Amino acid sequence: MNYVSTRDRARFADAQEAVLKGTAPDGGLFTMDILPLFWQDDINKLCTMSYQQAAAFILKRYLVGYPEQELEEYCKLAYSTFSHPDVAPLVKLSRNLYSLELFHGKTCAFKDVALQLLPHLMVSAAKREGKIRETVILTATSGDTGKASLEAFADVDGTRIGVFYPDGGVSDVQRLQMTTQSGGNVNVFAIEGNFDDAQSGVKAIFADTALRERLMESGIALSSANSINWGRLAPQIVYYFWSYTRLLNSGEIKMGDKIDVCVPTGNFGNILAAYIAKKSGLPIERLICASNANNVLTDFFNTGIYDRNRDLLKTDSPSMDILVSSNLERLIFMLAGDDVTRELMAQLSKTGRYEAPADLRKKIVDAGFGAFCADDEEASGQIKKTWEAVGYLCDTHTAVALCAAQKPAQPPAP
Ligand SMILES: *Cc1c(COP(=O)(O)O)cnc(C)c1O
Repeated sequence: MNYVSTRDRARFADAQEAVLKGTAPDGGLFTMDILPLFWQDDINKLCTMSYQQAAAFILKRYLVGYPEQELEEYCKLAYSTFSHPDVAPLVKLSRNLYSLELFHGKTCAFKDVALQLLPHLMVSAAKREGKIRETVILTATSGDTGKASLEAFADVDGTRIGVFYPDGGVSDVQRLQMTTQSGGNVNVFAIEGNFDDAQSGVKAIFADTALRERLMESGIALSSANSINWGRLAPQIVYYFWSYTRLLNSGEIKMGDKIDVCVPTGNFGNILAAYIAKKSGLPIERLICASNANNVLTDFFNTGIYDRNRDLLKTDSPSMDILVSSNLERLIFMLAGDDVTRELMAQLSKTGRYEAPADLRKKIVDAGFGAFCADDEEASGQIKKTWEAVGYLCDTHTAVALCAAQKPAQPPAP
């Protein structure tokens, strides 16, 4: 029982249960209470492995209880759908600046990296559980999660998937990718409202215990493919280790050298995975959280106040158009514990706002976090600049990260 709810440390689950349920029954997110540690020996071993092998090696420590052979098989299956032999190639842009390309999967969203694996993890967990006949996945999306989940779960036996997207809030390409998805078990819904409305709706369904019990009577389990599911988060930890070993293999760094990571951020899943890698021993110095004009997180990291009471803006980087970054809850839990998390999350749902206590703010700074935002104009300028300087064409989300990566380190918050 390595997984606990962020709102109650006494509420245990094993990895299979965490993956199956998606969220904890008390509204919290299942999180590993004690993280595994990787030593230089482990990192050396990773250097000689394929992505598939490295993923299985790392994941067996973050998905404790899944049989090792199963994980090896799933990683082979999931990552054979990627078009690049490296799965996630690390491309050098300039001295000390690299781009980790996570878009070589089926739907070109970085989310394929985790979502191609998730159905395997869920079906295996449902089989072991015994009573579950069908797992129904409900997913809110700002565009990318939806198409990547549909593609991952399409025609997977024992599963059914429903995706909710904000009408008018996704790009035409994303809408078409979703609404033309083939498969007998896929459903797509446009909702009136924005991504946060979609996400709150899905969370409310999950929190409805009576409904879940009724469904369970007919062998139907509800689960989530959003990055609030531990099974989404764990596969994202892998590619930070992978990047580090690519840098070692190409002689760009020596073992033990610290790297900074800069992550385009929406729901705070991807950058949290980087923090987890760091806590597990990967030599990472700064964790730079990059946001677009929806800069709730930038404000939070710089002032300690999280305030979602503002308009959600539509930007050119729609996968980051989010006001409630769910996975921040996991960071708060890891740094401050379940009592503080429960308190702050209660404030958030009541007033849409909370203020981190001073000791939590200090821990966030000490953990290496910094945050920057870039609006559409700055980001499109960055796309042009990067293209002209190094001949690399980056997308709008990467552009936000490139802007943030080049801003100087902030002095620690007072
Ligand atoms: C989903 C997504 C993000 C945001 O990632 P989170 O892990 O939710 O913070 C950023 N960029 C792209 C391209 C995405 O698809």
